[in-house]
Amino acid sequence: QTILISGASGFIASHVIRLFLESGFKVRGTVRSEVSAKIVRETHAEYADALSFAFVKDISAPGAFDEAVKGVDGVIHTASPFILDAEDYDKELFNPAVNGTVSILKAVKEHNPSVKRIVVTSSFGAILDYTAGHQPGYIYTEADWNPMTANEAHGADPVAAYLVSKTLAEKAAFEFVETQKPSFSIVTVAPPLVYGPLLHGYESMSKLNTSSADIYRLFNGSSKEVPDTVFWACVDVRDVAKAHLLAYQTPTAANQRYIISAGSFSYQIFCNIIRARFPELVATTPEDKSSLPFPDVYKLDTTKAKNELGIAFRPIKETLMDTVTSLKELEKIT
Ligand code: NDP
Repeated sequence: QTILISGASGFIASHVIRLFLESGFKVRGTVRSEVSAKIVRETHAEYADALSFAFVKDISAPGAFDEAVKGVDGVIHTASPFILDAEDYDKELFNPAVNGTVSILKAVKEHNPSVKRIVVTSSFGAILDYTAGHQPGYIYTEADWNPMTANEAHGADPVAAYLVSKTLAEKAAFEFVETQKPSFSIVTVAPPLVYGPLLHGYESMSKLNTSSADIYRLFNGSSKEVPDTVFWACVDVRDVAKAHLLAYQTPTAANQRYIISAGSFSYQIFCNIIRARFPELVATTPEDKSSLPFPDVYKLDTTKAKNELGIAFRPIKETLMDTVTSLKELEKIT
């Protein structure tokens, strides 16, 4: 079987691609350029024969995926901007997120009837009520949707706009299935912050993907104080990859969404762990001077993913340790 994986150059996609290759699938990755294809090819060098590429320069363009979907057996759509500093929300976030998603579904419906399952990488941002604060005692489930509209997002900060881009894209995907009744089913995977070792190639430590940079700043000397925690949950990228594979393979997951989360964390806890476990980073990792207990914040219910996909999650501490180790290694070679 050949699986089309969009956004092949990304942090999460690199792990998704690797897992599908390891599981015996052939992978066709979409990239924007030949340069990008070369980097992805190097990332998965030992699977050269099973990896090919389709060039999709602009995922928001009409018909962007029409050629890419031809001849594949399944599709994983990960490509979407994950940036938290957009200025033009429509151009940088909403158009690529929403049009990219609808266009890949439409391309499959019109050009490849043999695809039976499409997995879409959504986000906990499509579930979270971002403006509601800590919400003590609240437990999010797949029944929740981020209530912010595109109009409201236009007057809000870029973080809110990113979360809304994911919300609009996921809603558009389910609406497509409902109104167009394609012969495939979709599954959406909704992780909170995704951390873990980096597989993908990137230009420099100043151009890390957003969630890896989020950890790097904790110990590279750029944070003088422990940053305020904004999102209180995270998950390992290797488990996110597993969730995509299971979502692809599980027939009963048809047209379902799944929260994929290992549990709660805060930057205070992360800084404490880094300082305790990496003595060489004590000088560049801010100290948590507040000694406040972990606040009573919302939680994420992952029962559905555990029961229906049969997934288990790596402990957060292990994810953090592996992320820091990976970033330290990369720092040496870039
Ligand atoms: P990356 O930035 O590493 O990857 C994003 C990928 O999408 C890249 O391949 C990028 O291509 C591609 N892409 C973005 N915008 C466009 C565009 N306009 N046209 C073509 N390709 C585009 O981020 P992640 O791996 O972290 O994110 C992957 C997915 O996971 C996204 O859908 C994101 O929303 C979601 N997600 C991520 C989380 C995290 O913490 N990392 C948490 C929850 C969800 P290029 O390299 O050419 O720019």
